Amino acid sequence: MKVLVGVKRVVDANIKVRVKGDGSGVDTANVKMAMNPFCEIAVEQAVRMKEAGSVSEIVAVSIGVPQCQETLRTALAMGADRAILVETDQEVQPLAVAKVFKALCEKEQPGLVILGKQAIDDDNNQSGQMLSALLGWPQAAFISKIEITGDSAQITREIDGGLERLCAKLPLVATTDLRLNEPRYVTLPNIMKAKKKPLDNIKPDQLGVDMTPRLKTVTVAEPPKRSAGVKVADVAELIDKLKNEARVI
Ligand code: AMP
Repeated sequence: MKVLVGVKRVVDANIKVRVKGDGSGVDTANVKMAMNPFCEIAVEQAVRMKEAGSVSEIVAVSIGVPQCQETLRTALAMGADRAILVETDQEVQPLAVAKVFKALCEKEQPGLVILGKQAIDDDNNQSGQMLSALLGWPQAAFISKIEITGDSAQITREIDGGLERLCAKLPLVATTDLRLNEPRYVTLPNIMKAKKKPLDNIKPDQLGVDMTPRLKTVTVAEPPKRSAGVKVADVAELIDKLKNEARVI
């Protein structure tokens, strides 16, 4: 079975982002970029499934600027077999992501698509759901476990107050939650090997996809600064403040 994995290049999760002065977005100039953490989990899952014998080929896909090739090389170093960059300088929104993946699914015929549950830059949490709707395939969002048996997948999802188990027919769109696995570190030999793995570069036009953004960001703002805490003298004062100032009891 072939697996397509979505790999988004985002601002490194350890970087504190800054909002641009004009409030039009987040400043990404000279900021360290990395693979979206939920996409790392997606790649790791595909590699583990290949190691276990249920997957035969892993294709990593990124949509965006030419620098996304670096992110794809990381996916190849983790164990993906080949990569596709769908190159565009335009802002990439979830509907366009879903349309690109739909076109690639029609071309590549995978049994499974694994995306992150959300990209940590835009926090959209939409691409996987939109893709399954466009393809008419089952979806398993926020998975914390997946096993392939025959032509179906057994899935575990964490929900409020417990675990939900699902059985879905393949082909399937799955999105990863944090507890699915812990991604491996890439080793130097694997980084070297990854340089020789195939990386195709195509344009959205070649897939017949219109990338025009449908949504307009009106403004982006920093969260309000937290005010300093106060030290109370005793329990009576604490209760008084909770009752009369915070009004939470
Ligand atoms: P989102 O719906 O934007 O929160 O993204 C959810 C998931 O869709 C990400 O974790 C990726 O797996 C995939 N995805 C979103 N944008 C891209 C992109 N530009 N290139 C590749 N995959 C993407």
